[in-house]
Amino acid sequence: MKTNTKISWLLSIRNRILIFTVLVTLVPSFGMGWFFYSMSYNALAEKTQQRLIDSAGRVERDLSLWLKERDHDLRVFASSFVIADNLIKIQTVNGQTNSKEKENQAAASQKKIATYLNLVKNQFPDYRRLAVFDEGGHEIASSESPGDEGAFTLPAGWDARIVSAGALIGEAFLKKDEASPLAVIGIPVFSDKGGGRIGVLAVEIRLQGLLPFLKTVSADGDAGPWVIDLVQKDGRPLLTAALPEGQQETALLSDQKLQLFTHPLQLRTFNNGKWIVGLAVAFKELPWGLVISEGYDHVFADVIHSRDRIILMAILFTLIIGLSASLVAGQIILPLEALTRGVLQVARGDLDVSLDIRRNDEFGVVTGMFNEMAVRLKQNQQELEKLAITDSLTRLANRKQIMTSLKTHIENYRRYAAEFSLLMVDIDHFKEVNDTHGHLMGDMVLVQMAEIFNKVLRSMDVAGRYGGEEFLVLLGQTNIRSAMMTAERIRQAVEHFPFVYQDIELHITISIGVTGIINGDDTDNILIGRADKALYEAKTRGRNRVVLSSDNPAIEELRSDNA
Ligand code: GH3
Ligand code: MG
Ligand code: MG
Repeated sequence: MKTNTKISWLLSIRNRILIFTVLVTLVPSFGMGWFFYSMSYNALAEKTQQRLIDSAGRVERDLSLWLKERDHDLRVFASSFVIADNLIKIQTVNGQTNSKEKENQAAASQKKIATYLNLVKNQFPDYRRLAVFDEGGHEIASSESPGDEGAFTLPAGWDARIVSAGALIGEAFLKKDEASPLAVIGIPVFSDKGGGRIGVLAVEIRLQGLLPFLKTVSADGDAGPWVIDLVQKDGRPLLTAALPEGQQETALLSDQKLQLFTHPLQLRTFNNGKWIVGLAVAFKELPWGLVISEGYDHVFADVIHSRDRIILMAILFTLIIGLSASLVAGQIILPLEALTRGVLQVARGDLDVSLDIRRNDEFGVVTGMFNEMAVRLKQNQQELEKLAITDSLTRLANRKQIMTSLKTHIENYRRYAAEFSLLMVDIDHFKEVNDTHGHLMGDMVLVQMAEIFNKVLRSMDVAGRYGGEEFLVLLGQTNIRSAMMTAERIRQAVEHFPFVYQDIELHITISIGVTGIINGDDTDNILIGRADKALYEAKTRGRNRVVLSSDNPAIEELRSDNA
């Protein structure tokens, strides 16, 4: 089975804690921030809108006053007998049959009026031109000589407008070759002999004179100077209060002004590279309008400031909370990661693992238990390994292990010429022990035989159970002469050892075949065979003895010594 040891970024506990805490912090703080921001924004927008409407009202009042003064002046001129007298004369002439003399008289009267109008015009630079009209709206005389300019006509509905308002205030308009916007003002002319209206005195007046009023209001805007435009009633531009340096960018484009007039009296926001707020007002009494605009940053400075503060606070708050969450997550994650690493190490089969226990909490307990578990696992493994190479009855090396040791000794001899000797030990008449005293007695003899080996042998020697009651003993760094002596010591030790089991004492003997490694001993079988042959010889020669193997010239010499 393959265990997944990779954890995706999103699923890691640390990141889930982080994402959760950041969301829990961000959502309410931005939500509340947005709520307060939009509340104060709306309040300020409403207040600003009202203030702009009030300013527009103030401008309209000022303009009305200005117009009243013009109205007053014009009424003085309109009541001049020069106009009334001559107008009546012309009209009387027109009513009669034409004659050269009458025509001359009419032309003279016309000329008198024109002269008078020119006189007035020269006195008032605001007046562009003046003209007198009869009741039919036909021009009778004008301050210009005919043909100088286009015809001077009264605006549509002039008659009704004079009747209802006492005077005509026309729409403003622009004219070529004239810097200032113009408007026509018409005043009724009455007969000085009493009776009704006999004509109209009209003047094209320059509205340039209104600029100071716009400027006054423009300069006292609370949030910095406003840009104020006098416009026609549909938003087409007429007059702009000249902007101070650096404020041109708060002016609106002309199509934006027209747009404002589709929703008059409502504050709207535009972006001309810079954000601008604007509002349009159509005058109630006058056929003109105003557009007021101002930099968004100026108007909403406070709101923008608090919005930025809210964002900054939310970010700071999120950072602090995120950092704390990260620390807390670290407290959980770091020991968890250490545990995970430990578990992975064990899973790979490496039991040499011990984790640092630096805490008194649940993680400390778990880590301690983990360490204990690893120690137990290691002990179990070592025991298992030992069991695999140990004979269960005698606790000596088992056959497999003693053969492995033999192969290692042969290999070391080949490589380093490390000499060694081999003993093959067999208990004499062991069958009889079993037969007479039972198998358990036999087993006890085998166990005590192992103890004798352990006592007599050195640490570099290895004894192993080769078969039922046969043992192999490897004597490291030992020549056959010494091997013969060790074998003899073992034999004597056994011979004199009282094997006791359940009050029965037995005396046992053993036979030993001895051999040593010589050149050409390439396999274990050769050595085993030689020792086995020597053992067989010991048995046939009467048992309870040590016999050296015979098939080697070097050994032969020793054998003759021992014979
Ligand atoms: P010899 O002197 O010729 O060796 O005579 P012997 O009786 O020892 O003959 P042999 O070696 O053939 O007999 C081996 C006997 O050892 C046979 C078997 O019953 C006994 N034996 C083998 N393994 C065990 C064991 O684990 N426990 C006991 N109690 N007896 C065993
Ligand atoms: Mg045997
Ligand atoms: Mg035997």
